[in-house]
Amino acid sequence: GDTIGANFDRTAAAFPDRLALVDIPAGLRYSYAELKREVDALALGLLAAGIGKGDRVGIWSPNRAEWTVTQYATAKIGAILVNINPAYRTSELEYVLNQSGCKLLVAAQRLKTSDYAAMIAEVRPRCADLEQVVLLETPEWQALLDAGRQGDPTTLDAIALSTDDPINIQYTSGTTGFPKGATLSHHNILNNGFFVGELCHYTEQDRVCIPVPFYHCFGMVMGNLAATSHGAAMIIPAPVFDPVKTLEAVQNERCTSLYGVPTMFIAELAVPDIDRYDLSSLRTGIMAGSPCPVEVMKQVIDRMGMAEVSICYGMTETSPVSTQTRVDDSIQRRVATVGRVGPHIEVKVVDPVTGLTVPRNEPGELCTRGYSVMLGYWRQPDKTNEVIDAARWMHTGDLAVMDDDGYLSITGRIKDMVIRGGENIYPREVEEFLYTHPDIMDAQVIGVPDAKYGEELMAWIRLRPGATEITADALREFCAGKLAHYKIPRYVHITEEFPMTVTGKVRKVEMREKSAEILG
Ligand code: ATP
Ligand code: MG
Repeated sequence: GDTIGANFDRTAAAFPDRLALVDIPAGLRYSYAELKREVDALALGLLAAGIGKGDRVGIWSPNRAEWTVTQYATAKIGAILVNINPAYRTSELEYVLNQSGCKLLVAAQRLKTSDYAAMIAEVRPRCADLEQVVLLETPEWQALLDAGRQGDPTTLDAIALSTDDPINIQYTSGTTGFPKGATLSHHNILNNGFFVGELCHYTEQDRVCIPVPFYHCFGMVMGNLAATSHGAAMIIPAPVFDPVKTLEAVQNERCTSLYGVPTMFIAELAVPDIDRYDLSSLRTGIMAGSPCPVEVMKQVIDRMGMAEVSICYGMTETSPVSTQTRVDDSIQRRVATVGRVGPHIEVKVVDPVTGLTVPRNEPGELCTRGYSVMLGYWRQPDKTNEVIDAARWMHTGDLAVMDDDGYLSITGRIKDMVIRGGENIYPREVEEFLYTHPDIMDAQVIGVPDAKYGEELMAWIRLRPGATEITADALREFCAGKLAHYKIPRYVHITEEFPMTVTGKVRKVEMREKSAEILG
């Protein structure tokens, strides 16, 4: 029933002196009372700058404290925050600014080779709605805050907001195609963050290490909103993911929870002297975003000490989390499923063609319904109607199996399923098997065109440091007798890295294109 701002204020009133936010690289630390002062100052500054309810405010920056301050300040005045991926370049930036109709853009000046200021200057003449740009760490940014500090915070309470108002436009990761702007309300994302935090048993004692990007729902909802709705602290280890800085942050800030997509945990586990870090404060955490390999989950529990770690499954369009494993689930279910449906959400598994619910233990398309389903894609009603049906079921495009007790396993994306000689193959199953090979650090399986079978399997492999090269024959030998013959990859490609989205997801679309080149 709260708006995001009201919920934040409630926490700030309950735990004024508790740690709220630490930006390690910037050397900034805020208690909840201090963070509230920053948030209120920016909210009032934005009002003074002519930004009001329903206006779109873009944020284009890697993780830093100002990102979080902007998130809560815009929510307080009912402005719609538009998260812009820091890896975007000019054409994507221009598209997002115009598609969402941003009136004001808050942006970092530069990071390493990314000169945000120069890219903004280039696209600005072509962005008709964009009236103001405020770069962080400039006098303009300071002026915005200073103007707000002169204001009266009680004026914020007088703004009429509804929990069903749109408050955020989040573009999807673009793993399968062009990103779409999911429009989300206070009700959507605040509840989602709150319930994720509930299932992680967060209290004001927790310190959540957030190396996942804020511009994505994993960072801003499962990270920030889950933390602030429970009085926990948000710890920013670095502007962009860095495995060593993440481990240092956990150790130095005594974090109790750590987030990551599977590739991030894989990178942390591969840090050569990982055992030298004191990770004993870690109790829980979340792995999510793409298939979570069983072997990686086991190591996160055993070597990183995250005894209560959970897996979440979700998508930007559903705020994001739909299912989550619970601490009291059996260990097998905690490492090998995405858990059961979250509170106040419904799920069903349907035949993608007929739309009829399939029996338990049979694969089909996962559909979800409840408070978490987005309002729609911003200004794209046709695209919205393709995924949300008349009964408000969100068709996820993901394939899942539900067991007799309601535990779900994601078997892949419909678009990634491989059909070889009439047999449906779920690459996920083959990948899980490849992960059991001692020399394989990371494995991805895709379908490549084949004249005889329609499609053939190709495995892309990243080897562990120091491992000897694996040939296609040796890999097939390893699979022989353990996997059905048609699931054994015909081609093997050893590589240093996979094509990735900034959210750390493997872009199989790009791998399929590159595979065509590799195979000639
Ligand atoms: P786009 O929709 O632009 O192609 P995307 O689907 O990757 O990109 P997100 O909304 O960030 O964008 O990701 C949601 C998707 O991530 C889900 O639909 C699912 O395919 C995958 N996913 C999320 N969590 C899990 C998980 N625990 N296990 C397997 N897959 C997951
Ligand atoms: Mg998607």
